[in-house]
Amino acid sequence: MHIITTISEMHDIVMDAHAERVGIGFVPTMGSLHGGHAELIKLSSMRHSLTVVSVFVNPLQFGPSEDFGSYPRNLDADVRMIRDHGGTHVFAPSAEEMYPQGFATSIHIEGIAKVLEGASRPGHFDGVATVVCKLFNTVMPTEAFFGQKDYQQTLVVRQMVADLAMPIAINVVPTVREPDGLAKSSRNAYLNVEERNRATSLFRALSGAKKFISNQVTPLQGRKTISRSEIEAEMLSALQDVRIEYAVAVDANTLESRDFYYSGEKIALLIAAFAGTTRLIDNIVTDIV
Ligand code: AMP
Repeated sequence: MHIITTISEMHDIVMDAHAERVGIGFVPTMGSLHGGHAELIKLSSMRHSLTVVSVFVNPLQFGPSEDFGSYPRNLDADVRMIRDHGGTHVFAPSAEEMYPQGFATSIHIEGIAKVLEGASRPGHFDGVATVVCKLFNTVMPTEAFFGQKDYQQTLVVRQMVADLAMPIAINVVPTVREPDGLAKSSRNAYLNVEERNRATSLFRALSGAKKFISNQVTPLQGRKTISRSEIEAEMLSALQDVRIEYAVAVDANTLESRDFYYSGEKIALLIAAFAGTTRLIDNIVTDIV
């Protein structure tokens, strides 16, 4: 297992790999790794003999009142987890290595980056895009792996990769959940027992709304029509004892909110809610058939 902390060392390794036509899989993370990250690493290592996992808590993507300072960090445990799931290289730079004195560039994304998480967390996606761009330029991957858990982030990354013609395949991996449905997250460690119980209502709300959609009857010779307000009401009724920031049914490709959705369309059900002081997000993407 190679642990790399500088961009120049990483460049030496990946340039050699490209010269030998070895594909590079890349899994960007903020560390505090769990079973969700493990799936991404496993998949990458099945597809590429060289898998780089970055561990970097990116200050640019946290707001001033968010948890940058208290975000869980444990590089030793992360390195073990990466090795056990087939990762070959860990890239764990310091903040100074990524953002040295005089760093002055930012990637700014409009459109899909402005709504939902983008509206709740101003500057968040610019911070994500800037670090992902720099990590891509450092690791030069053939294929990068992201979790569906952060659904809007996957759209933002795809937008950047398309707009800036980055020659990198983006692979989105299904959300890994606890047995009771709670999406695995590094931030789950903040939850006390009672908050942990309340947190399960996010998945209940999402799966209830998905069932609601599939139970709607398709009219004879017609297209199924489902009203957004009904789907969202279904979610709200299941979200108990959490403080809801948003619970929406939107077009899965554009994140646009429409009054009605029809057969053949793909919609994303997206929730952000607080259990105590911990902000949780989750989603399900579903086809209307
Ligand atoms: P993070 O360390 O939270 O920035 O996450 C790093 C990557 O792991 C992101 O692409 C996340 O979407 C992904 N990820 C986090 N949690 C999960 C999960 N429960 N299932 C699948 N992927 C996840």
